[in-house]
Amino acid sequence: MTSDESEMSEQYIHQRLLPNAQCLELRDTSTIDLVVIHCTELPDLAMARSYGERILYPASGTGNSGHYYIDRDGLIEQWVPLNRIAHHVHGFNAHSIGIELVNLGRYPNWLDTASQEMTEPYTQRQLDSLVGLLHFLSAALSKLQWITGHDLLDTKMVPASDKPAEWVFRKKDPGPHFPWDNVLDNLRLMPYL
Ligand SMILES: [Zn+2]
Repeated sequence: MTSDESEMSEQYIHQRLLPNAQCLELRDTSTIDLVVIHCTELPDLAMARSYGERILYPASGTGNSGHYYIDRDGLIEQWVPLNRIAHHVHGFNAHSIGIELVNLGRYPNWLDTASQEMTEPYTQRQLDSLVGLLHFLSAALSKLQWITGHDLLDTKMVPASDKPAEWVFRKKDPGPHFPWDNVLDNLRLMPYL
């Protein structure tokens, strides 16, 4: 066991389940093999929460969110239990875990040609918490072996909101400031794509 594993335990994960979390589809946690890293592309955790609580699929009473959120100060919150399928990435939800880092990204004009550069760096506390969480999840879930970014799984382009003749990436998170080499160091998880 590394020091990271011994430092992280469930007591550091604050449970703040979404009010509609029990409406998300159940799954067997032994099928989970992939972690997808995201950033919220929003100013703060409170706004991310308001987005996560929105009902986007009235038939099931559910919306879009990750399983975990990590704030800039390193606070980790769990919004969806691991035995529920969260809607966080197109096509890979059933067997994955979504981890969202609070970061401005392209906010507020996500799809404008002028705001495609993501400028806010991730904080060291945020990255330390992420690595601890990844060690914890690796130890808890024996089939978990892959990790990737939302930007690598969803490469669709869409017309820009300010110049419809130009195309921009629909998803860019966690983006170029995410330090993949540092995060993958000492983890047993491998890059998925
Ligand atoms: Zn994302």
